Amino acid sequence: MNKTVPMWINGNAVESCSTRHGDIYNPASGEVIRTVAFANEADVDRAVVAAATAFPAWRETSSLNRARILNRFRDLLQKNHESLARLISEEHGKTVSDAMGSIQRGIEVVEFAVGAPHLLKGAFSENVAHDIDCHSVLQPLGVCAGATPFNFPAMVPLWMFPMALACGNTFVLKPSEKVPSASMRMAELLKEAGLPDGVLNIVHGDGETVDALISHPAVAAMSFVGSTAVARHIYETAARHGKRVQALGGAKNHAVVAPDADIEAAADALMSAAFGSAGQRCMAISAVVAVGGAGDAISAALTRKARQLASADMGPIISAAQRERVRTAIAEGVSQGASLMLDGREQAAPNAGNGFFLGPTIFDNVTAEMSIYQREIFGPVLVVLRVASIDDAIALVNRNPYGNGVAIFTKSGGAARRFENEIEVGMVGVNVAIPIPMAFYSFGGWKSSLFGDLSMHGMEGVYFYTRRKTITSRWG
Ligand code: NAD
Repeated sequence: MNKTVPMWINGNAVESCSTRHGDIYNPASGEVIRTVAFANEADVDRAVVAAATAFPAWRETSSLNRARILNRFRDLLQKNHESLARLISEEHGKTVSDAMGSIQRGIEVVEFAVGAPHLLKGAFSENVAHDIDCHSVLQPLGVCAGATPFNFPAMVPLWMFPMALACGNTFVLKPSEKVPSASMRMAELLKEAGLPDGVLNIVHGDGETVDALISHPAVAAMSFVGSTAVARHIYETAARHGKRVQALGGAKNHAVVAPDADIEAAADALMSAAFGSAGQRCMAISAVVAVGGAGDAISAALTRKARQLASADMGPIISAAQRERVRTAIAEGVSQGASLMLDGREQAAPNAGNGFFLGPTIFDNVTAEMSIYQREIFGPVLVVLRVASIDDAIALVNRNPYGNGVAIFTKSGGAARRFENEIEVGMVGVNVAIPIPMAFYSFGGWKSSLFGDLSMHGMEGVYFYTRRKTITSRWG
């Protein structure tokens, strides 16, 4: 039975007045399970006005009481962990255990946000001149907005609104139109935790909805996570409208395998890093850079292990259209002369029915000019490039326009240290394939993987969602 996902405004589920709709699929079965209305300007205005109206009282709520509500929200997320994961699995396709893992990372951001009273402490300098003191405070911005991608339906929204709320802002979220239900469930849980109406609002939709949000005069700041082309558009448009903006984009994450690496351990780690969630993770490894003699061994180990992966454990691709784009990318790799070691187009998942599954694909002897290396494919495709030295590997990674995540596999501390130092990438793993920072560090890439100056959560999250005021006072 189809159902339309409502918006969430002023603490209630409400219908949109828009006439534009989108279908929500279960990618594992290929069936339409729900529809969602794409909010128009009037819907967006309603959500922003609700957030602006709720702001003065929320800002006046003590930081401790705000944290207490978030603490109760954290407990409710934990209590509803599995049911939320099932909802994510239904709309995104990833396995329930994978969804539970990503929710856990989101819960850790809420736990970090609960510490906001400490993080919001300002600075104080006594007697900077005769009878004069100086202090600074961190104040909220007002109404903040966020738009999120399909691949982490709970975790990426949790990078944004808990921190924004903890800092005293109100929020309007526009989740991915492909996976809107997890955000709706989290809004219900926040209400149950005691969040006043209007502090968090949700609208659904596509680019038109997001554009209405970033051009709305009452929105002070925009957080975005998605593909690079859209991130660049968000950054430029939000800045033109005078908003503070952080826009995280796409990725091409490399794993450098040094000649002294433990090849079996590296290949094991790369299986889940490249093919987990069918490669639809912004930190997924999509390029292996084999140094010197490591090439034949790593290529063979990857191919052998990938052949044993079950598509059902990897999960499906998000849509039929995206699966077609991945198939086209594989065909281009073949026509450009890369060696196809394993062809995922031939591997259908057992009992897949009409689900959008694709097996793992591995290419060897890929060059930097080939489109399978240059483009973010965002599917289960791993390409192997061969270079002569660690210096060549560093130069190759640094020439790539993206700079989200990177890993090096080596037994040499010296090589790892030089790699960490010279690599132009925001998040670096040493013998760790997916180096996602903990919530108390910040998540963000370099170059075309992040537009703006501040990344998500950690202290950068606190600074993004606050502005500093410095007061100089004389009391004789
Ligand atoms: P997407 O860019 O298509 O969509 C992201 C969001 O932007 C959605 O809410 C969508 O509705 C909205 N949107 C789409 N077109 C728009 C437009 N023209 N104007 C304004 N808004 C628009 O991305 P996706 O397909 O949902 O997600 C996959 C992408 O996200 C990949 O490129 C992946 O690397 C990236 N991603 C990056 C990170 C990171 O931390 N850097 C994390 C997760 C995903």
